Amino acid sequence: MSRLGLALGWKGLGLVILMCGSTLSGADELPELGPEAQAEDVTVATETPEAAPEETSPVEPLPQAPPPEPAAAFRILDTEVPPGKTMRLSWSASQNFAGMDLDTPVLVAHGAKPGPVLCLTAAIHGDELNGIEMVRRVLYSTDPQKLRGTLIGVPIVNLHGFQRSSRYLADRRDLNRHFPGHNDGSSASRIARSFFRSVVRNCHALVDLHTGSFHRTNLPQLRADLSDPGVVALTSGFGATSVLEDKGAAGTLRRAAVDAGIPSVTLEAGEPMRLQLEQVEHGVKAIQSLMSNLGMLKKGFQWNDPQPVYYESSWVRANRGGILLSTVKLGTSVKKGDLLGTVTDPITNVQSLIYAPYNGRVLGRALNQVVMPGFAAFHIGVERSPEEVASEASEEKAADESGGQRDVVISPEDEAVEGDIESIEHPE
Ligand SMILES: [Zn+2]
Repeated sequence: MSRLGLALGWKGLGLVILMCGSTLSGADELPELGPEAQAEDVTVATETPEAAPEETSPVEPLPQAPPPEPAAAFRILDTEVPPGKTMRLSWSASQNFAGMDLDTPVLVAHGAKPGPVLCLTAAIHGDELNGIEMVRRVLYSTDPQKLRGTLIGVPIVNLHGFQRSSRYLADRRDLNRHFPGHNDGSSASRIARSFFRSVVRNCHALVDLHTGSFHRTNLPQLRADLSDPGVVALTSGFGATSVLEDKGAAGTLRRAAVDAGIPSVTLEAGEPMRLQLEQVEHGVKAIQSLMSNLGMLKKGFQWNDPQPVYYESSWVRANRGGILLSTVKLGTSVKKGDLLGTVTDPITNVQSLIYAPYNGRVLGRALNQVVMPGFAAFHIGVERSPEEVASEASEEKAADESGGQRDVVISPEDEAVEGDIESIEHPE
């Protein structure tokens, strides 16, 4: 069941917002981190017991008339964030030895007025940079005094990978295949569990920010389990952002969050290892539109035109190895039989051509590179009505649950990479 009080139609967005589950407290005045705040104004708190306890004022406050809509303080990571304030906290999974743990920054903007808790997570894959900048722009342009509800942003979930420009954790496992995690599992599984309990459980809705993987690039797009009504409602708030039906691989943060009753989507934009402003700007606009549609920001941020387009999609693969050169751009509409790209054997000079197998739109593609036979090269989406996609997703889910068989479509992100330990060990 959705904990987010959403009642969104496909076209219009009529909203009922649930209060966030926070507790009242006599919070002291805390440093403000507005858009103009300096770095030294930031308060850092951690979830460790040694974190500095909150000081209480010995002076009795003067009785004051209550504000018209008092928001309670928001409690997360052993810290109470007062209404109308932004704080920088930190989460640590305690995966190292004393003094060597990485404190992962968690930014919390707690609105002056009550509303839903929206979480933004980026760089679970440490080489995916566009989302980091999206989180920064959204967080630091949000005035908590004008915000309804709470915005939680984790710009770099996988600090270990980020520091090495790697998609993976230090042990070469993919953190985004281990949620919600186990206390007694692998290192990745324990990190996932800590993050899920400490941060994700606080969210009423979650947007996980990604890019294409392994030298591929994606048109800005949502990946969503459209068999879940709460997720469907969420997808309609992002303005002109394409939506792909995709339940999500087991162990992804998105799927674990949906299973825990938190409507969640993945927002894909661009390619790894690069900061692409056009993609970042699309993402920021889409997220602010969502916040507006959730009632968190004023209506001026809504991006209602054009409406999102819903797609079913599949990958077109290269049947020969060689140098792949694309002849289509992201977003291009193609007809069945259109040339998508060429693959040329650099030794024999034999060239093969890759054609569009059906009419559709190029939602993702491989960058020009050397490929092996079977390489997923072009992601082509076919437009569908949201009702069609949702009903097919529900049928597939029902077939899954009753043990029925269906074709399993493996996305490029699930393909093993050379030296990927997980593909050898199958740890979970
Ligand atoms: Zn990713």
